[in-house]
Amino acid sequence: MKQEPVETARSLELYERACAVLPGGVSSPVRAYRSVGGAPRVIDRARGAHVTDVDGNELLDFVGSWGPLVLGHAHPAILAAVGLASERGTTFGAPTPFEIELAERVVSMHPALESVRFVSSGTEAVMSAVRTARGFTGRDLILKFAGCYHGHADHLLVSAGSGLATFGVPSSAGVPEGFAEQTAVLPLDDIDALESFFAERGDELACAVIEPVPANNGLLLQRPELLSRLRDLCTHHGALLLFDEVITGFRLGPGGYSELCGLTPDLATFGKVIGGGLPVGAFGGRREVMSVLSPDGPVYQAGTLSGNPVAMAAGIATLDQLDRAGGWDDLSALGEALEVRLGPVLERHGACLVRIGSIFWMSLAEGAPPRSAEAIAPEAVERYTPVFHALLDRGVALAPSAYEVGFLSTAHTTEHLDLFAAHLEEALVP
Ligand code: PMP
Repeated sequence: MKQEPVETARSLELYERACAVLPGGVSSPVRAYRSVGGAPRVIDRARGAHVTDVDGNELLDFVGSWGPLVLGHAHPAILAAVGLASERGTTFGAPTPFEIELAERVVSMHPALESVRFVSSGTEAVMSAVRTARGFTGRDLILKFAGCYHGHADHLLVSAGSGLATFGVPSSAGVPEGFAEQTAVLPLDDIDALESFFAERGDELACAVIEPVPANNGLLLQRPELLSRLRDLCTHHGALLLFDEVITGFRLGPGGYSELCGLTPDLATFGKVIGGGLPVGAFGGRREVMSVLSPDGPVYQAGTLSGNPVAMAAGIATLDQLDRAGGWDDLSALGEALEVRLGPVLERHGACLVRIGSIFWMSLAEGAPPRSAEAIAPEAVERYTPVFHALLDRGVALAPSAYEVGFLSTAHTTEHLDLFAAHLEEALVP
């Protein structure tokens, strides 16, 4: 079916203005559509499962602001909580009942947490957790995995060096080589590489950081053995294990992926869902480890807006809703409903759906889903661009990059998923 051209004049006009004053016209690079081409839609408003752009086009949204909006856009309970909290004042730079309540909540929910500190983004959470691990262990070296993203702190913008050496090299200009050298990088899905690394350098390691469900380079679901072996090796060598649950935390269940996989990391980081759509991150772990933080201990970490009462109130309201309304079960059921609909469509077109709970990714290549960044076929990435645009023209918004996952929210219905499947069937026809 031929699509009518979509009116985007106002988006284009605004984006042109944006480019004059914002680098790339955006506040975060992927929003600029560089990997899929074209100009981004400028969003005017959103509600439930839909966003509306400034030209009035309504889009069925699977981006969900990249993960936080587990209840959908502008959920009434969140708006009410934000309204009530902000009437009391938007920031005090002092303890508030909101942050204490949210801290108690998350400590009671997540198996890794005895003590937690709030920050304002996922980047800050991981950066601070790594400093905590270094302060606790007195070691500098950290280990990460290729294909996992942990925000844009200097020592985490690092990719694998060449050859067998595991020393990292900067993956961004502006990151000093000296910083990158303190970060070793291993491939995912490679237990032999893990064993050799720990045999050689395990005793120097402050922490190993991993997305237990890698969801920033496709959705690279790991074999359970990798995580359990990593847990054992860290314990054996006195290194801390840090699970970056910025995406999975409070989305896959009340205890995140840690609870699902039955492994307890020493430290865990959060963002997205924990702030209910406002800027919140958090890191935490065993009390003994967290006690190295200032003012109790020697590791400095701080934030003017950390524990912001309005953002804390949004986080509390989100967890409340998920808890009271059986939200986590609904999200899993929606995930299954999506798989039932999209799976066969993708398979008919030589592709497959990768999914865990309410997080999904379309692997646009034949064969088993990739388990490492290196296993993603370049053709699959190329194939994404026309599919993305065909869906957008039909009113379905996926992330503007082949490597990004999609998110379901409790605002999605099975009718929305039917519509998605029908449009995808058309979009996949070359
Ligand atoms: N860790 C993970 C696993 C993430 O997915 C992200 C963001 N996508 C971050 C850290 C960084 O979070 P933020 O963008 O809030 O700084």
